Amino acid sequence: HYARPGNPLKEKVDVAQLFDELADLLMADERFCDIEIDGQYPRPCFFELDVKQMRQVLWNLSVNASEAMERHGRLTFLADSEKSLIAIEDTGPGIPQDIRQKIFDPFFTTKDSGTGLGLATVHAVVESHGGEVLALEGKAGGARFEIHLPQRTGHE
Ligand code: ADP
Ligand code: MG
Repeated sequence: HYARPGNPLKEKVDVAQLFDELADLLMADERFCDIEIDGQYPRPCFFELDVKQMRQVLWNLSVNASEAMERHGRLTFLADSEKSLIAIEDTGPGIPQDIRQKIFDPFFTTKDSGTGLGLATVHAVVESHGGEVLALEGKAGGARFEIHLPQRTGHE
């Protein structure tokens, strides 16, 4: 059964630090040993989000990128707190247009041993934050996933 994430416990989080920690985890994982990790964001770079849930989101997107690139290529982390945007781009083959509408569905997979739950979790977490996630084409022709979180009102 597919369990949806709980309500986010939002706090002020430095996404630059979150990406640094993620890069350390990935570099210790054999699926990423031939992948170059590139960061494009200011330091610090603050967002209001549930850090545990967002760690899972960024991990799921990174593992998918490694699988799409067949473990060779470049993974780029991007964040812009002015635009409330967090993004991950890879240099894989990109997402075929005909499946872009389905990739966030629970259990949709194109892999022999895929679960199809990675992006469903990403979608559910971002939605529970009041944001939206987009699957696009990156500059290098690979996949680019953009997470748009709600802009802070300044009245909170
Ligand atoms: P799984 O990884 O188990 O297949 P996901 O929900 O994580 O399930 O992804 C669903 C599908 O979306 C994948 O099977 C793949 O076809 C496509 N996909 C996800 N990320 C990428 C990516 N970075 N590049 C190309 N296709 C992707
Ligand atoms: Mg996956």
